[in-house]
Amino acid sequence: MKNIIFIAPPLAGKGTLSDRISEKFNIPHIATGQLLRNKIKAGDEFAIKLKSIINAGKLIDDEIMSLILKERLVEEDCKNGYILDGYPRNVSQAIVYENILKELNFSLGTVIKLDVDYEIAKKRLAGRLSCMNCGRVYNEHDIETSPKVKGICDKCGNSLIRREDDVLETLEERYEEYQTFTAPLIDFYESKNQLITFNSNGGVYKIMDNIIEKLVELDE
Ligand code: AMP
Repeated sequence: MKNIIFIAPPLAGKGTLSDRISEKFNIPHIATGQLLRNKIKAGDEFAIKLKSIINAGKLIDDEIMSLILKERLVEEDCKNGYILDGYPRNVSQAIVYENILKELNFSLGTVIKLDVDYEIAKKRLAGRLSCMNCGRVYNEHDIETSPKVKGICDKCGNSLIRREDDVLETLEERYEEYQTFTAPLIDFYESKNQLITFNSNGGVYKIMDNIIEKLVELDE
């Protein structure tokens, strides 16, 4: 299995899709947002700084991100592939990522771009619930992705919460950050012929099937 990265605006479903695809192919789902939220749990000075940047919808410093990412990618379970959800977020992170790949002797693999209408992203925001323990994402307004038991994570049994940055003002800021910093990655990866694009406006299972079908085809 190849390594996979996602380029997607907020609420496009990259977390939900990465999680389900990682189960299907038995490779780890590495969500940089979740790695950061885990660091916040420490409650120290660094955690307070991270929390204020995330809640403002801004991006964390590239150098901090590259350290956090590398720390995770050297772990044994990444040797057979992984899904990276939330990194790279800008062109300079993509260049750092290329160097990390070289250093670890990993290949870039597949870059998946998800497109979603802003109005749909806003609707999804209203129902999104997240597990702060394992990172799984749900939507209480969507039959396909609502938890089996209200407020409880299907995967690990922890309580689900609404993320502090899942509010409209922060979504707007995150969306702008995406347009300004992350969207230029589309040209970056298109020029390397590494990009495949999916429309993510519909139901998650249909999109997931389309992505899996394509990944299997690319692997053959
Ligand atoms: P996400 O869970 O992917 O929506 O990320 C939540 C927040 O974590 C983002 O709005 C950023 O503040 C921060 N974050 C996650 N990944 C990165 C990254 N690669 N670079 C900078 N900030 C990040």
